[in-house]
Amino acid sequence: MARPTKALLDISALRHNYRYAQRLSDKGRAIPIIKANAYGHGAVAVASALADLAPAFGVACIEEALELRNAGINQPILLLEGAFTADEVMTASEQNFWLMSSCRQQIDAIVAAPLKQELTVWLKADTGMHRLGLAANEFATCYERLIHCPFVANDAIVVATHFSSADDLSDNTTELQIAHLLELTQDLNVELSMANSPALLAWPEARGQWNRPGFMLYGNSPLMTEHDAVLPLKPVMTLRSAIIALREVDRGESVGYGRTWVAPKRSKIATVAIGYGDGYPRHAISGTPVWIKDQRAELVGRVSMDMLSIDVSHIENVAIGDEVELWGTNICVNEVASYAGTIGYELLARMPMRTPRIVVD
Ligand SMILES: *Cc1c(COP(=O)(O)O)cnc(C)c1O
Repeated sequence: MARPTKALLDISALRHNYRYAQRLSDKGRAIPIIKANAYGHGAVAVASALADLAPAFGVACIEEALELRNAGINQPILLLEGAFTADEVMTASEQNFWLMSSCRQQIDAIVAAPLKQELTVWLKADTGMHRLGLAANEFATCYERLIHCPFVANDAIVVATHFSSADDLSDNTTELQIAHLLELTQDLNVELSMANSPALLAWPEARGQWNRPGFMLYGNSPLMTEHDAVLPLKPVMTLRSAIIALREVDRGESVGYGRTWVAPKRSKIATVAIGYGDGYPRHAISGTPVWIKDQRAELVGRVSMDMLSIDVSHIENVAIGDEVELWGTNICVNEVASYAGTIGYELLARMPMRTPRIVVD
């Protein structure tokens, strides 16, 4: 039997989610963020699927952008971490990569580059995240230096910031960060870019001319509130495998490494051909839900590298070869993540090459 473990990618769900992000971008455009291999889905597959809809794509670094160019993606590509050397700046200008610039060294590299054609530069301001971005007292100087750079597309400078707490609807930090950016840019003729997924969904004031949704495009809510269920998002990835062994264990017998789960009664245990080597989190605890034969079942014992075990005592007619969904349309990746002490973002971004991505339309 061929390994039944695969990540199915629902491209029409992806396009649906992007169109929704675009609808929320009522002041401008939504740039799909496809860093970290499109949150584990496959950057080239995702970019190809959105190529006729998206004005540009966003990735973390130049290596990720070149992968897309080499695969024939022609849109501008925003480098969220910018470029640090004049060489990288030259590559960016030749390849139509947009540079998010968030410190003086990056501005120096742009000024030093022997540019021969236009370069699109975004400026990032630190409004409270304190990770990347220009401080208020260095922002004006950097902006001035940029607009006097002959090849920097002067009328295309976008000022961006990033939120620390947009997923927390009770935290007013987002409002303070928006106010900070508006104040910083009030006398400038620039376009703004603030919103990531949670801000686009939950903070209408954060919508700018350019929004940067990532996680929501893959069909899950970044908000983790009781409103999640009503969001019109459809999961893109369904992580699926199948049963490769079945057994009965008596009350008091254990399952898996370390004997962490002990049967409270005689139980029917299925072994599924997926483990942490395939992207399923090792830290998922006994009780984590899976989906089999249109119902839930629970993980029991420790996740191994290539396998895990589930309790199927309550399910009739279970057989070797039966499909099991680990997350996707029936089990939300965020729910699995909560049992593993992390967030859906991490589970998706960590999906390894070993697991084939299968595009379904
Ligand atoms: C990753 C990232 C995004 C997208 O964030 P999501 O929460 O996935 O929507 C947007 N902007 C920047 C600067 C990022 O690094």
